[in-house]
Amino acid sequence: MKKFVIFGNPVAHSKSPQMQNAGFENLKYDAIYKKHHLDDGNIIKKTFLKNNYEGANITVPHKEHAFKNADEVRGLAKKIQAVNTYINENGKVIAYNTDAPGFLKAIESFGKVKTVLLLGAGGTAKAIALALQESNIDVTVLNRSEGKLEFFKNEGITSYSWDNFESKEFDLIVNSTSAGLKDDYLPCDKELLESVFKTAKFAFDCVYGKITPFLALAKENELEIKDGEDMLLYQGFLAFELFTKAKADNKVLEGMRKGLRGE
Ligand code: NDP
Repeated sequence: MKKFVIFGNPVAHSKSPQMQNAGFENLKYDAIYKKHHLDDGNIIKKTFLKNNYEGANITVPHKEHAFKNADEVRGLAKKIQAVNTYINENGKVIAYNTDAPGFLKAIESFGKVKTVLLLGAGGTAKAIALALQESNIDVTVLNRSEGKLEFFKNEGITSYSWDNFESKEFDLIVNSTSAGLKDDYLPCDKELLESVFKTAKFAFDCVYGKITPFLALAKENELEIKDGEDMLLYQGFLAFELFTKAKADNKVLEGMRKGLRGE
């Protein structure tokens, strides 16, 4: 039986095992997916190989370590400089980032999106910003502090901190900050949000499983809203296809959604 894991710290809360195992069951694929708590991200590759894992997902705070440790990084992950998926290819560790394409799949349901305001500048924002840029969607980053903006500026992405923001019209507003995850904060000033909501059509929050204050305010302003469940599902589904080397269908996807929801 092939062994897969998710590395994280903490990892106890992760829903990836229930989602991935549901996928394996659907495909009758002989594999098991477990949680692996990892304190030291520097030994992630060694730990992966020593345990004979066939593949892994990587979550907070190890995505950058995983990027640096990999034998080979493929696709947009090279620019993002963070990976969430490892594959064992004949003893070599191949790394991918499926958060970026997972996000793009998740916003497909909105239809045509031309301009995006992305709130936050952390690891998730990097993946989202580069995914949008690669799809020729105009993206502007707005973050609480200046410190993390350098990465975006180096990629030619217009970026502001709260102090110097210059607004324009956006189709979609994305919250990729952790505001609203465990608290009731908005990701930025309420007036600023209300002003961009006036002309926007859609709002997306990376936080999943709840209506955050950000989504609640967007709904009040009559925007179409979506939480982060589909993003989590699609990043998992794309990793699953890499794990199994199979092109999985909609039945597998919906099985994984049920697994994710614990249904
Ligand atoms: P990081 O810690 O890398 O970045 C956090 C960002 O949020 C920073 O830009 C930080 O700003 C900002 N921030 C934190 N608190 C506040 C606040 N109160 N007000 C305004 N800005 C704030 O986190 P990640 O990028 O890894 O994750 C971000 C969110 O995305 C989390 O909620 C996470 O759960 C979610 N997520 C969802 C996924 C999915 O599949 N649905 C996948 C991955 C993440 P500053 O620079 O000023 O500190």
